[in-house]
Amino acid sequence: MPDATAPHAFDIVYAEQHLGTVTTRFTGRPTPDGRGVVLEGVCPGCQGRTRTEYRCGVPGAGTKGLMSWLKGEQAGPGPAGDAAALLEEWHYCECGHPHRLMPPDAVFVGCGASWRVAAVDTA
Ligand SMILES: [Zn+2]
Ligand SMILES: [Zn+2]
Repeated sequence: MPDATAPHAFDIVYAEQHLGTVTTRFTGRPTPDGRGVVLEGVCPGCQGRTRTEYRCGVPGAGTKGLMSWLKGEQAGPGPAGDAAALLEEWHYCECGHPHRLMPPDAVFVGCGASWRVAAVDTA
């Protein structure tokens, strides 16, 4: 498993790879405008800090239930069920460093890694 305390590996080469489910800690918090969720953590591919914003109403991100989960509300299926929306997403590296050989049309500026998270902290 990746070492979350390792420095950002700027020199690794861009590669699109699914790393599966990682157990490093990711934090979810509402965006300042309250209309989305920001998931933040350390990329398991390059160890860079990555943050991805999910907007309400985006297909695939069950943001309505997610928002109530982030606010600590107990409506609906409960925190575990709401958190599942983020746990089901594939998260892509957005460390902001254009790794070597990154295609110019890459959607996310990073190392190309994608992963799912085993858990999301709300702290
Ligand atoms: Zn990365
Ligand atoms: Zn990186």
